[in-house]
Amino acid sequence: QQAAVPSRPSDSNLRSPICCIMGHVDAGKTKLLDCIRGTNVQEGEAGGITQQIGATYFPAENIRDRTKELKADATLEVPGLLVIDTPGHESFNNLRSRGSGLCDIAILVVDIMHGLEPQTIESLNLLKMRNTEFIVALNKVDRLYGWKTCRNAPIRKAMKQQSEDVKNMFKTRVNEIVTQFKEQGLNTELYYKNKEMGETFSIVPTSAISGEGIPDMLLLLVKWTQKTMTKKLTYSEEVQCTVLEVKVIEGHGTTIDVVLVNGVLHEGDQIVVSGMQGPIVTTIRALLTPHPMKELRVKGSYIHHKEIKAAMGIKITAQGLEHAVAGASLHVVKPNDDLKYIKKAALEDVESVLSRIDRSGEGVCVQASTLGSLESLLEFLKTPEVNIPVGAINIGPVHKKDVMKASVMLEKKREYSTILAFDVKVTSEAKELADKLGVKIFIADIIYHLFDQFKVYMANIKEEKKKESADEAVFPCVLKIIPNCVFNKKDPIILGVDILKGILKIGTPICIPTQNFIDIGRINSIKINDKLVDRATKGQQVAIKIVGRNSEEQQKMFGRHFGINDELVSHISRRSIDVLKNYYQDDLSMEERKLLVNLKRIFKIQ
Ligand code: GDP
Repeated sequence: QQAAVPSRPSDSNLRSPICCIMGHVDAGKTKLLDCIRGTNVQEGEAGGITQQIGATYFPAENIRDRTKELKADATLEVPGLLVIDTPGHESFNNLRSRGSGLCDIAILVVDIMHGLEPQTIESLNLLKMRNTEFIVALNKVDRLYGWKTCRNAPIRKAMKQQSEDVKNMFKTRVNEIVTQFKEQGLNTELYYKNKEMGETFSIVPTSAISGEGIPDMLLLLVKWTQKTMTKKLTYSEEVQCTVLEVKVIEGHGTTIDVVLVNGVLHEGDQIVVSGMQGPIVTTIRALLTPHPMKELRVKGSYIHHKEIKAAMGIKITAQGLEHAVAGASLHVVKPNDDLKYIKKAALEDVESVLSRIDRSGEGVCVQASTLGSLESLLEFLKTPEVNIPVGAINIGPVHKKDVMKASVMLEKKREYSTILAFDVKVTSEAKELADKLGVKIFIADIIYHLFDQFKVYMANIKEEKKKESADEAVFPCVLKIIPNCVFNKKDPIILGVDILKGILKIGTPICIPTQNFIDIGRINSIKINDKLVDRATKGQQVAIKIVGRNSEEQQKMFGRHFGINDELVSHISRRSIDVLKNYYQDDLSMEERKLLVNLKRIFKIQ
């Protein structure tokens, strides 16, 4: 069965722009998608809107119809708009090609009542990283107290109907949010006031519930893309295509859902897709899209196409797709192409991501659902604020073998014996094995949640190690004996001292820094005004009891081995310095760190 594919108008050679919806959870991404998909169009085939694989297609006609009221005289040159159906980072991440974005424009949804939230900022960073244009949908305007509903009206028309209170509240919110964007280094402005599009990002106030501002948003998307991206949107024979998902479908075997960004695909085309075990060379058996009449849609029934032109969401069936990697590019082999070269390109797609892991193999294991999300996660883990080394990566569910791989780190660095699983399932066998071996698995579908979990875990391990090494941590101090305050000369030595520098703690080994360093024992107790304390600092006068750790130290005596003029210092070592550095860095002041450096010199520690 051959069905009509929305075709390009003959007078324009542009393909449809591809649009992604991003933003914080609950900002209204799904609702916004539903709203632009569903409202206003009761008749027949939903005003030409067609459901594709992973995307919804809005023909220009539909957009023109819905934006009538805006009296936009701009002619629409693009055939329509392709909006990716799964909102969020995931689909955006996957629309990539070697680190650059394939999504032409994004809608960043911000809840007007909440402003910028963690995932808004995460989305912003992704957009910046991939150099993707976007507009801000300032959603839920209907939540402004006292809002009068003006169903599907352009926003300025709706605004005119509002009371002064609502208008003022709106202004305040917009100003606040513009300031928040500025804090992220971005200039934003209400789209109808924006004179510097390109420099300043446009804000469109919307309601995904009652439809205010939706016409504005659609028109802005189309106008902005066709004005600024003509080159990118020019239809080309060169195939640009990304695998969104690898899925097993009954009756079709393993299939891939792709977004054809540019070019044309034919049944019978020889294609190359990246696989975890190397490039897969195969032939397109069928090009499928969902049946247009949703009501009659039987599970698993698709329309077959002889050929499909961009931009489109398509399901492809072919042999050998089991190991295909979601998020990688699909390449077409044309008659005169060198297959070797194309296979190399497919390989590089995966290797560009694989090459980001630490060569020493020391680091956590990272597992994600697709190449795109893996790439984003790796980029995130590499940022200076995060800085988590990655030793191994994989795509797809976490299996026993992945746990085995992670367990290798148990011996070397326990905290890295960890799997960060991003948007993937963990098999129950893998979970069991991980529990048995002591491998930690963190699961999340939001990058920063994964990071937060790991951060807490690392902090706990650090705390544990800090406790374990407490005996080995020697804080730097310099003490001066106060005259007439020698209470016991030997075993134990009891003295009154001035703390000249540093921190004095119970357990600190004390030494007289003469040429051959006389160790006299450890601080056993500290008293200030007859009250026992654990620690004291520079400037304080304290009474200390020093107990020898061995018979040699127990022999050491005031008046014989050291005198009133000798300074007492903490006996540091290479090991004690390392412990301090690793676990007590934050407990030392600048001055105390300097003292440590001085003592290091005295003890001739490299
Ligand atoms: P997502 O997590 O970003 O996809 O958010 P959803 O689309 O699931 O929306 C989250 C909640 O906010 C749902 O209860 C929606 O009904 C509600 N919501 C979304 N958009 C609007 C809006 O414009 N106005 C109001 N009042 N509620 C909205």
